[in-house]
Order: sequence, then structure tokens, then C-alpha cells
Amino acid sequence: MDSPTAQGPEATRIRRHASVRSIFLAATFGLAGIGLAAAIAVAILASETGRASRQVGRELETVRAVASAQREVLIYSRESLLLAETGDPSHARSRDAARAEVAAAIESAKANTNGHGDQARVGEIDALIGRYIAERDRLLGPGLPPGKQLTLAAPYLDEAMVAADRYIEDSERAATLTEERVRRLGTAATSAALAVVVALPLALLGMLRWVRRRVYLPFLRLHEALNAYSAGEKGVRASEVGPPELADMGRTFNQLADSLERQRQTRFEFLLAVAHDLRNPLTALKATVALTDARMRKGELTREQIEQQQRRLALQVDRLNRMVGDLLDMTRVEAGRFDLSIAACDVRSLAVEAKDLFEGSSAFHPIRLVLTDEAVMVKCDRQRLGQVLDNLVSNAIKYSPQGGEVEVRVHRAGAYACIAVRDHGMGIAPENQGTIFEPFQRLRPDQAPGVGLGLSVSKLLVEAQGGRIEVQSEVGVGSTFRVYLPLEQAPA
Ligand code: ADP
Repeated sequence: MDSPTAQGPEATRIRRHASVRSIFLAATFGLAGIGLAAAIAVAILASETGRASRQVGRELETVRAVASAQREVLIYSRESLLLAETGDPSHARSRDAARAEVAAAIESAKANTNGHGDQARVGEIDALIGRYIAERDRLLGPGLPPGKQLTLAAPYLDEAMVAADRYIEDSERAATLTEERVRRLGTAATSAALAVVVALPLALLGMLRWVRRRVYLPFLRLHEALNAYSAGEKGVRASEVGPPELADMGRTFNQLADSLERQRQTRFEFLLAVAHDLRNPLTALKATVALTDARMRKGELTREQIEQQQRRLALQVDRLNRMVGDLLDMTRVEAGRFDLSIAACDVRSLAVEAKDLFEGSSAFHPIRLVLTDEAVMVKCDRQRLGQVLDNLVSNAIKYSPQGGEVEVRVHRAGAYACIAVRDHGMGIAPENQGTIFEPFQRLRPDQAPGVGLGLSVSKLLVEAQGGRIEVQSEVGVGSTFRVYLPLEQAPA
């Protein structure tokens, strides 16, 4: 036994392929086809009925002509007898007139015959009548008694009359059959017209129902989903059924709604992360300040210890400052309010500054500089490019929890200046190397502080200065981030 689901996917697939365009084409051609077929049927029936009616008319006309010939033959016969009995010339005239009428009636019958068979039979009747008239005229001559003449001519007359009678009978039967056919054609035409009158509205109704189910209802459901969504039901999704155009619209709406939902979720998580990441250094800052203050009051701290505490405080403030700076940059870029002050600069000096900045920050991450002897000049916003480099070095330290050297290398690469920051840290899996430049993308939120903005801000800054940023990394081995900027053209 077929399970209902056995046919389901196939049926769904076939239904899915009927696009709005093909549905309307099918409806148009379907209705036009029914109309055309009805018109052809009515035209054929009308022409057939006309032909059959004309045939009946001709058959009846032949019957009338043959019957008239019979009557005139009898008149001819009677006038011949009277002529023989009385010798009155008026009977001779009447007889000749009757003979002429016979000839005219036979001609009329011949003109209305249907086909060769009829023509032959009328010809035969004509011949038999002609033979009788010739015989009758011949018998009138030798002075035979009228009764004898009648008797001698009678067999010829009988034969002609019988042939005419038979022909009339057959023609009447044929006419009756043709009439019957005309009647049947009439009934068929009426039935066809009725069928069209009933079938057209039914077909129209069927098509409307079909269009309603296949197009209108999916459209209505999509409309309801959109309305519900805009009324605040953010969990509502459209059904992706119906013709491809509507299913596509439903899918696009769902993707949009999902993406908005993800964005909402991301924003929420981002706010949480920002609050969390701002609170940690602030709490530490507050505790350090309170402790230092209390111990200073008691005179427990040496000058060296006070300086150490101050360095810690400065570090925490730096981190806070950087995070707030990233957030501000991001917001400015998003809002389109972002200015650069471009000037010529030797990239090597930026590398030296980054080393100075981070060198003391971690005993486990020595910083090594590899610089070319000659200047590597680019046109850039010095402060912004320094910010990018700081972010890369800071990440290199942050994501190398086991320690390890961080190398900052500056060199020329064709028409570009290249700044490469290399670490021996945890590395980044290939599938994540594309996404880390997107805002709020953090691969290991629990392992290191941050909000996931550093790289996306760096990318925006580098690209705004006509450059590009790339990563090359291997999990467990380390990462190298490279920034390329066009070299400044040496003045000619
Ligand atoms: P944050 O450091 O604040 O998380 P970033 O935009 O600077 O944000 O970096 C995004 C993510 O890329 C980080 O969360 C981290 O997972 C990954 N990442 C960045 N630099 C490195 C690196 N040198 N080694 C390994 N992973 C890194």
C-alpha cells in the first residue's frame, strides 16, 4: 500500500514548479481552448445541418417533379384515348401540352437529383415514359379501336408508372432519413451549445478556485505574516509555499526576519560583553585605588610600591581607553563621520613606537623588530595606522597565552609597504579567518578580554587609506597579520 508520504514530496515538487506566470498562461490558454473548441464544434454542426437541409429540399423537389411527370403522363394517356374516340383536335393539343409538361417535369427531376445513382434512376423513368409515349403515338396511327390501343399500350404505361412509384417511395424514405439526421444534428448542436454554456462557467469557476488556492491564499498568508511581523510579532515567519515567486518572497522575508533577529541578539550580546568588559577593568581599578589609598594613609607603601601601583592603574586605564576608542571609531564609521589626516610617514617609525609601547607589558612576549635599512614611506594618517599596529601587537600578545616572541617586520612588497605582525600563539582555524574582520566576531570570548571590534576597525582604517589587511594562520602554530599600503611615489 502506498503511504501518503510516498507521493507527497513528488506532488509537492510538481506543485511548486507552477509559477504565477505559468498558472495565468494555463488559465488563459485553457479558457481560450474551450472557447475555440466550442466555436469549431458549432461551426461544423451548423454547416452539416445546412448541407443536410439542402439535401432534403432537393430530394423532395425530385419527388415532386417525378410525381408531376406521372400525373402528366396520365393526362397524356387520357387525351390520347379521347382523341382516338372523338377525333377532336383540341384533344390533340391537350395531349401535346401534357407531353411537354412530362418532359419539363423530368428535366426538373434530373436537375435536383442527389448523386449518380439518382440520376440513372430518373434517366430510366424518362426512358420508360418515352417508350410508352412512342408506343402510344404509334398505336394511334393504324386505326385500331381505342380500347385495343389502350390494352396494347397498357404494359408500357404500367412499367413506367411502377418505376416512378418505386423511385418516389425510395426518395421519400431517403428524405425521411435525411430529415432524421437534420433533427439529430440539431439536437447535437443544442447539446453542444448547452455544454459550452455550462462548461465555460464551470471551467472558469475551477480555474478561479485553483488560482485562489495556488496564488491568492499563499499571497494572503504572506500578507498576514508581514502584517503580524510589523505589528510586533517578531517570531512570525511566512510559509514558503505556493508558486516560486511567492515562495521566494516568503523565503526572503524569513531570511530578513532571521537576520534581524540575529542582529538583535548580537546587539544584545554585544551590550552584555561591553558592559562586562568595561566593568572588569573598572572594578580592578576601583579596588586598586581604594587599596592603595588605604595603605598610603597608613604609610605602608614604599615609593617603589606606589609607582608599581600607578603603572597598574595606567595599564587598566589604557585598556579602557582603547575599548572606548574602538567603540567610538566603529560608531563614527557607521555614522559616516570619520576623518583622516593624511601625510607622508615612514612606517618603520610606527613599528618602533609599537615596540616601545608594548615591550614592558609582558615578560613572556619579547618584541622583535625587523626593519629595512632605507625608509618605507607611505601616505597615511599616522595616528590611525599606529592604532592598527597597536591593535595587531596587542592581539598577538593576548592570543599567545603560553607566551612567545612577537615579531614586527616592515619591508617593501612591490608597490606596497608591508607591516607584518607575527606571533606563536593559538592560531585561527581556516574557516574563521574570513569572519574575524567582521564586527563583534570573537572566537574565544572567555579566553581574553575584548569586544570583537579591533580587527574590524583596523580593516576599515586600512582600507580607508587605500590598503588591505590579511591574515595567515595555523591553529597551535601562530598567526601573521599583514597590512599593505601603497608606497609613496618618490618625487621625480
Ligand atoms: P577582540 O580582540 O576584542 O576580541 P578583534 O577584532 O581584535 O577583537 O579580534 C577578533 C577575534 O579574532 C578575536 O576575538 C580572536 O578570537 C581572533 N584573533 C585576533 N587576533 C588573533 C591572533 N593574533 N591570534 C589568534 N586569534 C586572534
